[in-house]
Amino acid sequence: MTVDLRSDTVTKPTPGMLEAMWSAKVGDDVFGEDETVSALEEKLAALFGMEAGLFCPSGTMTNQIAIKCFTQPLDELITDQTSHVYRYEGGGIAFNSAVSTRLLNGNRGIITAEMIAPEINSNDVHYPHTSLVVLENTVNKGGGSCYTLDQIKPIAELCQQKGLKLHLDGARIFNALTHTGDRAVDYGQYFDGISVCLSKGLGAPVGSVLLASKETIKYARRVRKVFGGGMRQAGFLAAAGIYALDHHVERLKIDHAHAALLAEALKGKSWVANVLPVETNLVLFDTFEPAKNILEKLLGKGIKANSTGPNRIRFVTHLDVHPDMVEYVIRSLTF
Ligand SMILES: *Cc1c(COP(=O)(O)O)cnc(C)c1O
Repeated sequence: MTVDLRSDTVTKPTPGMLEAMWSAKVGDDVFGEDETVSALEEKLAALFGMEAGLFCPSGTMTNQIAIKCFTQPLDELITDQTSHVYRYEGGGIAFNSAVSTRLLNGNRGIITAEMIAPEINSNDVHYPHTSLVVLENTVNKGGGSCYTLDQIKPIAELCQQKGLKLHLDGARIFNALTHTGDRAVDYGQYFDGISVCLSKGLGAPVGSVLLASKETIKYARRVRKVFGGGMRQAGFLAAAGIYALDHHVERLKIDHAHAALLAEALKGKSWVANVLPVETNLVLFDTFEPAKNILEKLLGKGIKANSTGPNRIRFVTHLDVHPDMVEYVIRSLTF
């Protein structure tokens, strides 16, 4: 048996999803003529209580466009030191927006208004102008840790007081909503921008959507074109996103249950030093031996995973990890 626990991006479209893609009505979206793309953008915007949406090829692009929209060159943004926008987007904050980054040490990537407040620069020519805060929910490098809306509220209030924009990297926002029980529609009021990935736990092959005000999206559309992200008959891809929203949100709780089972099994193993708390579909654990050795042993049994540090391994559950595979992995953890 082969089990791929490297990432929730490895899923393949299901037959139902392929059917939806096949029958999508499409047009040239750069001309604003693809009704399926427009339907996806409107559907997600309504879902999150935002005015408008913009379909993009990747979550990196939606995040980078948001940063471009919410800053000017010489500005600074504040984010946690583990955050995807800082670590895994190739230095795009500096390259695309000419903005510097102030890093905080959150708790598994979760930051608070109290941590942010002292890092906002005063109006002095020595300092870059602080203009944006970026949160991530769930936090990838935090092992899928979640913000609740109650934790977000004081951050949004601080940003409003200080005239800062607030962006959410919601690559796995539906995993967070599944865990916290918060409602998507309550998110819009707190954020200037929200990026939602369709190609992670939702199982679509491609695509992310940036949500914001109509005015911001109008400018974001311009930035997307400049970044090379204007797509033509993209409705085939948007159809997969719509299908995913209709069919693959409810089932995320299954991924979370699978992750919890894997974590429990790992806790009993002599070669495992520590398992981080599991809230969603990511399981991070530390090994006594170098992670490289363990990954080789796992691969020998057909189990693919990645390391996120010299002694840290990440298991990710997703749409294509079935109950029999979880049982197989649990049985296979004895070396
Ligand atoms: C995957 C991911 C993204 C976007 O990645 P793309 O591969 O560019 O779609 C953004 N933020 C987080 C936290 C992610 O895990």
